[in-house]
Amino acid sequence: MQAIIDDIAEQMMAVEDKGGVAGYIPQLAKVNPNQFAMSVALPTGEIFNAGCVDTHFSIQSISKVFTLTIALGKLGENIWHRVGREPSGDPFNSIVQLEHELGKPRNPFINAGAIAVVDAIMQGHQPKEVLAEILQFIRYVADDESIAIDEKVARSEQETGSRNASLAHFMASFGHFENPVDEVLGTYFHHCSIAMTTKQLARAGLFLANDGRYPSNNYKVISSQRAKRINAMMLMCGHYDGSGEFAFRVGLPGKSGVGGGILAIAPGKASIAVWSPGLDTIGNSKLGTMALELLASKTGWSVFGKSEGA
Ligand code: GLN
Repeated sequence: MQAIIDDIAEQMMAVEDKGGVAGYIPQLAKVNPNQFAMSVALPTGEIFNAGCVDTHFSIQSISKVFTLTIALGKLGENIWHRVGREPSGDPFNSIVQLEHELGKPRNPFINAGAIAVVDAIMQGHQPKEVLAEILQFIRYVADDESIAIDEKVARSEQETGSRNASLAHFMASFGHFENPVDEVLGTYFHHCSIAMTTKQLARAGLFLANDGRYPSNNYKVISSQRAKRINAMMLMCGHYDGSGEFAFRVGLPGKSGVGGGILAIAPGKASIAVWSPGLDTIGNSKLGTMALELLASKTGWSVFGKSEGA
């Protein structure tokens, strides 16, 4: 495994067009695109690392996997009254479907859906309390108390978040919101601004690769059925209107973020975190996707079968 990912990291550093960093969040626009990191965590506790695996990056929409997990824990199946579970086929920040579908977002991973999930988990609590709960959950599954929010990124998002504010107010106009829109938005911007390394993120995803169990002590984080369903959501919706392409090329449940990270789950086998800040036109990490495509092909981990021949 170490040889495989060392080789992938080397190949990635040689790629000339590394994509473009997320320009619409000024703090993310400053990140040097010439970086790559990959960590592969196994349920045995082993972890394999290549590239700048100790560098913190903004996990952005990858945090939506953890807020969905928390929402399922709090609301159970009722969360599906607030968000659907179908791919949107539209960009992550699109507003067009919301009008036709009366303010109910297609899935929890597009921005509108993740904002609705935050509203659902707030349940009248203050943003600070809800953020503490989200952080506590991520620190717990990553087994790392040092994970924190990058306040500069959160502020940067808040200052330029007109589109997300539009999505939230539009949903609220259908009478769906239970908490003040600005508090929901502030909570959303802050959970997107959690900073992690690929080492931490790969560990944090292990419960999804391990039937919902925390690998070191086999403690149940969520039921195996829930883990299976979150993985299904990641496969269908985790890369927005690039989800079909990601399934075609990589074949693993995955969740991307505009910070350039991707968390991919090989059920029963591994949790993989990859980071490279340059994005493709859809907003998914360009090298991250290429690296996962290579890894899935070399390991045969695609959920759809092996990769022999052309
Ligand atoms: N915080 C980002 C936003 O709301 C998340 C988008 C993403 O990572 N795709 O625009």
